[in-house]
Formats: sequence, structure tokens, C-alpha cells
Amino acid sequence: MPDYQVLLKDLPSVDRLLQEPLVKEKLHYIPRRIVLEAARETLEDYRVRIMQDSDLVHDKLSSTRIDLSTSALSEEVALLAENKAGFSLKALINATGVVIHTNLGRVPLAGSAVRALSSVSGSYSNLEFSLDSGERGSRQAHLEKLLCDLSGAEAAVVLNNNAAAVFLALNTIAFNREVVVSRGQLVEIGGSFRIPEIITAGGARLVEVGTTNKTHLSDYDAAVNDNTAAFLKVHTSNYHMIGFTSEVGTGELSTLASKYEIPLIEDLGSGVFLDTSKYNLPPEPRVTDSIKAGADLVTFSGDKMLGGPQAGIIVGREDLISQIRKNQLARVLRVDKLTVAAMEATLRLYLDETVALKEIPVWNMLTVPKVTLRKRASQLEGGLVPLFGRDNIKVVEGVSKVGGGALPSAELPTYLVVVKPSSAHPSVSDLTRKMRQGEPPVILRLRHDSLVFDPRTVGDNQLEALTGAVKKALE
Ligand SMILES: *Cc1c(COP(=O)(O)O)cnc(C)c1O
Repeated sequence: MPDYQVLLKDLPSVDRLLQEPLVKEKLHYIPRRIVLEAARETLEDYRVRIMQDSDLVHDKLSSTRIDLSTSALSEEVALLAENKAGFSLKALINATGVVIHTNLGRVPLAGSAVRALSSVSGSYSNLEFSLDSGERGSRQAHLEKLLCDLSGAEAAVVLNNNAAAVFLALNTIAFNREVVVSRGQLVEIGGSFRIPEIITAGGARLVEVGTTNKTHLSDYDAAVNDNTAAFLKVHTSNYHMIGFTSEVGTGELSTLASKYEIPLIEDLGSGVFLDTSKYNLPPEPRVTDSIKAGADLVTFSGDKMLGGPQAGIIVGREDLISQIRKNQLARVLRVDKLTVAAMEATLRLYLDETVALKEIPVWNMLTVPKVTLRKRASQLEGGLVPLFGRDNIKVVEGVSKVGGGALPSAELPTYLVVVKPSSAHPSVSDLTRKMRQGEPPVILRLRHDSLVFDPRTVGDNQLEALTGAVKKALE
């Protein structure tokens, strides 16, 4: 019998591992099925490693590099069980400087939104109950007035996300009919959402007009026929065309739409209520601007520049919104009470611009003064010097990105803490992996052979935890 078969036979049983003190202790607070699973997976992992060890296969038992003692196995079981017992979805530190990070949950919520979530979710609420009349109410009622006040629109409805908002608006208004869109606006947003596909999925027929770089009002005009149900204008939020380009403004397009008595739907992508140009950011059309310019329906995300929970918002004409609400699919795409709670709290912050800038994390991070970034960078540098040595760390000027397909041309000046581990340290890839798997996980930027921390997305109150996490990754 080859040596590896002996080793396989000598591996402890699952039961034996569960008797080990280190593993047994975990059973006090980790469900048995999780510990059991950890023991089985560890054993399987060892079996595979034994079979793959070429020295073992070639009968050189003495040279095995694997510690096969029961205590070594039980240590791994305990670690894996601990790992499996933790939540899969967890809070982490975003040191990438990308403010709207779709893979990292887009944006953190404001404190008041977090409190609203907690209060409403742990209790019954008046989600669909009117406290005035004592009769059935609407979940939309909690948000509609705020949205109308902030946007200047007549009516509003909140759905699961902006993809749902665009879909439902088209499905309601243009089912089996034509939607006219400029070729320059047939964009793809984040992999699976593409304007042509969403139009088709909504049951409408896409009529493309103009060219990639130029579309004129006359192109829209020529496309109108008895079957035209709407014009759709899409804010190409995630890319920027420069050079010989032109598109038709909301105002002009709205005038043409009115002439033919068809609605103009505008997909704004990011919902912005504040004037970005006031804060050294590139201009971004506000929801109010589109409504003022005559868009009949405007759709936007709740969790991009708005800084709220995942949601899609439609504001606009009362008669159209009312049709959208009556669509059977509105029920399919409706928001739950957690979204309503967090959204109401977020929207209320916009009633006072100063409060919004301070309290809504996305705006706070976008407008954080350079001196604050400098201070955070120095503080972080100070915490990392004892770990990596003075010579391996520097603070340099750099840029942060808005992310989430918003303001693609914005380059936000920041200070970066750049760490170049020496040969005495683990490799950059080892360190980033350990930081990802740490508690809390830390996600950062990589540049060649350096770790790059952007303090823009790291709160003052997270700096210590960040240093601690790096320290742990080095152990
Ligand atoms: C992001 C975006 C969407 C999709 O929004 P979700 O809220 O992620 O569904 C649709 N249209 C535009 C223009 C966008 O930028």
C-alpha cells in the first residue's frame, strides 16, 4: 500500500475531531451542524492535500510537509467553524476612495436613516394604515409629499430600484407601442442593465434616432407616428462624450413631445437634489431641473448620489404616476417598509441643504475638505509607520472617484497613504487577502507592489479599526 493511503487511513474521524477540546468548546455557542460541516470540510481538504502531495504518492512518507496531527486538524476545524458561524454579509472598511461603490453596497446610510430602520423594523408600523382616519393607507404616502416638495413634481412613486422604475414607466406607457431614443443614449449600466434590453423587456418597441455622437430635434420629429408612445431621454451618467457631439435638451424635447401629446420620460440615473457645481463637482442635472424643463416623468436611483437605500424613484405628472401605480407589476416591484423608513429619513435631510451635506455620507465624502483628508492621511500614516517602518510609507496627492457610474469625469483631489511592504513583510497579495478576510474586512487599492489607502471613504471613527486590521493581517 502506498504511504499516502496509510496517511488517509490514519486521519481522525469526524467524531474524534468533535471530541477535541478546541472543537468541543465551539459547540457551546456555534450550532452543531456548522461545526460538523467544518470538521467534514477540513477532513476532505486534508484528504485532497495528501493525495496531491507528490512526495507522499511516491512513497517518501518522511518528507511530508503537512502537519497531520489531530491537534493541527482540530485547530483548523475550530477556525473554520468560527468563520462559518459569522455573517456572510457584513460591514467593512472601504479604503478605495470610490464613494459610490456598487460592489460594496453603493453608499452608507445617514445616521437618522439607520435609526429609522431600527425603529420601524423591530415593531409594527403604520406602513399602510392612516393614523388620521384609522383606515387603510398607502406606503407611498410616507414619501410622496417629500419627493414632490424636493423635485417640484406633482406626484411620485418609489419602487425597488431605478431599473424597475424605467421598466415600469415604459411598460405602463408604451406597452406594444414605440419609444423613441437617441442612439447616443443607448447605454449599458453596470453589466446587466441596458437601455435597449429594458425597453424590450417592458414590452415596448425601441425606435432609434440620430447617430452615436449627434442627435437633432428633427430626428425625433421625423420618428413620430400614430404608434409613438413616448420619448425617452437617458442621462448618459457613466460616460462622457467629447468632441463633435450634440444632444437635444430636455426643454426642447419636451416642447416637441407636448406638440404630439406624448410624454417625455427622462432617466436621470443618479438622483441629485443639490447643485453639484456649488461644491467643485462637475455639473449634474438635478431632478428639479428636469421637471422644470418639462419632463413628464423623471426616474432615478435612491442609492447613488441621493445617498439613501436601494430604490427607484419616479416623479412627474399625476395622471401618469397614477397609471403606473395601477399597473399590476407595481406590486411586483414595490418597496418594503425598511426602504420606506430609510428613504423617508434620508429625504428629510434634504429639506435643509447644510444638514444634507453634513449628515448624508455620500455628500459628506464628496465635499470633505482637503485639510481633513490630509489630517486623516497623516493619522493613518502615523498608525502604519510602526508596522511597516518609516521608509516604506509615504503620503502623496492623488484622486478619488465618485463611482457608481456617476460624474465619470470628476476627479476629486485627495491624499493617499502608499505602503510598499519590504521583503521582510508578507507579499502585497497575501496582505490584501488577509485584510479582506479580517474582522472588519478592509478593501483597498493596489498600485504595482504597493497598498494604497484613500482616506476619503474612511471615517475619522474608522481610522483606528483600519490600523488594527492591517496590524492583524501582518501577524
Ligand atoms: C444606475 C442607472 C440605472 C439603474 O439604476 P439602479 O438603481 O441600479 O437599478 C438606470 N439608468 C441610469 C442612467 C443609471 O445611471
